[in-house]
Amino acid sequence: VAAHVQAMERHRGLNAYITETAEAALAAAEAADQVLADGSAGPLAGIPLAIKDLFCTEGVETTAGSHILEGFVPPYESTVSANLKAAGAVFLGKTNLDEFAMGSSNLTSYYGSVTSPWRAQGSELDLVPGGSSGGSAAAVAARLALGATGTDTGGSIRQPASFCGLVGLKPTYGRCSRWGIVAFASSLDQAGPMTRSVMDAALMLGAMAGHDPKDATSAPRPVPDFAAAVGRGVKGLKVGVPREYRPDGLSPEITALWDQGLAWLKAAGAEPVEISLPHTDHALATYYVVAPAEASSNLARYDGVRFGLRVEGSDLNEMYRKTRAAGFGREVQRRVLIGTYVLSAGYYDAYYLKAQKVRRLIADDFHNAFKEVDVILTPTAPSAAFPKNAPQDDPVTMYLNDVFTVPTSLAGLPGMSVPAGLSGEGLPLGLQLIGRPFDEETVLAAGRVLE
Ligand code: GLN
Repeated sequence: VAAHVQAMERHRGLNAYITETAEAALAAAEAADQVLADGSAGPLAGIPLAIKDLFCTEGVETTAGSHILEGFVPPYESTVSANLKAAGAVFLGKTNLDEFAMGSSNLTSYYGSVTSPWRAQGSELDLVPGGSSGGSAAAVAARLALGATGTDTGGSIRQPASFCGLVGLKPTYGRCSRWGIVAFASSLDQAGPMTRSVMDAALMLGAMAGHDPKDATSAPRPVPDFAAAVGRGVKGLKVGVPREYRPDGLSPEITALWDQGLAWLKAAGAEPVEISLPHTDHALATYYVVAPAEASSNLARYDGVRFGLRVEGSDLNEMYRKTRAAGFGREVQRRVLIGTYVLSAGYYDAYYLKAQKVRRLIADDFHNAFKEVDVILTPTAPSAAFPKNAPQDDPVTMYLNDVFTVPTSLAGLPGMSVPAGLSGEGLPLGLQLIGRPFDEETVLAAGRVLE
């Protein structure tokens, strides 16, 4: 813990943390020494972790990367972070993120952008860590935490893990409680671990997961011994390779990595099977209707009355307007506008209802594929990390980052990004493994072969 606290101080330039809790961490570490000595230690006793600043932490400011929540100190702890604490983990602080977890770059945080600890060979350009869990990714990659929590609505654990050379696991929807996590799109949001190895991910997930009566969508299922599954191997497993994930424009580098990953799984005894997920083409459009719709509803609560920022106005409506205009950044405002539009009378059937129907078709595609295969292998993202100063004026280009990750989210399936190789410029590239509902174990076992 002390070593990580020192590293955090040395690397504040990355802006990975919004809030550091070094003092509390050092005190918790001493308490952990005690339980380790007397034999009552939990499975994560003394392990220094970072918590994405979307998880409410009792007595510690929780901002969601937004101005509107500045100064909000929750009087309660999210279930996932409470579970980690109960397992003995020590929290180093709260990590930076795209505002309300909307983004793929970490350029939209009110608390400043995060810089990846990685650089392309021979380049001085600062790179994005990916998003939205980019602070968590940068912290773990730069050794400012041993592991971190992330949340993933459409790729926010997997894409930054891919950009920063980490393992990032989005569990099955319902595996981890959403209670106490600032809501973005409730039917998609899932918490998960970001770590340096598949085994670390298994250990962390084991501590985070579990049924929680406070979240009605949390699954009443026992938590398997994920760590025991890691070494299980892939002998006899059928690995699906969806042809729709090989669009014409896919970079040769990514294609080669994908083939390499498949070769590794084959060498370990798995059998590749070409599959079809025919509605893949519609996933991005579907996600960017469903997610903003739910976000516009979830974000209605930030009204200047109950949380954080208030900008006074001459009457209640003006106060709402001024607070939300000043408190939300441009991307969040864009999502609220899109979401309100697609939910409004007259457009609901054309957009939101249609998107829900396509979402079902996308989920059915996976359901059918999993009659044939045990796990699916795809790239995580269409590229390696991009420079921070790349032009940012086109939101759709940014949304394209999520093309391989959103289908899994829409279907509620477990997906994990595993660092599998380097780009020509020496930057990390991840491969994504997708599993059947609640079969994180097979995903972990296959991931172990790739890392
Ligand atoms: N990049 C996607 C978005 O902006 C996903 C974000 C996330 O998973 N939280 O919505």
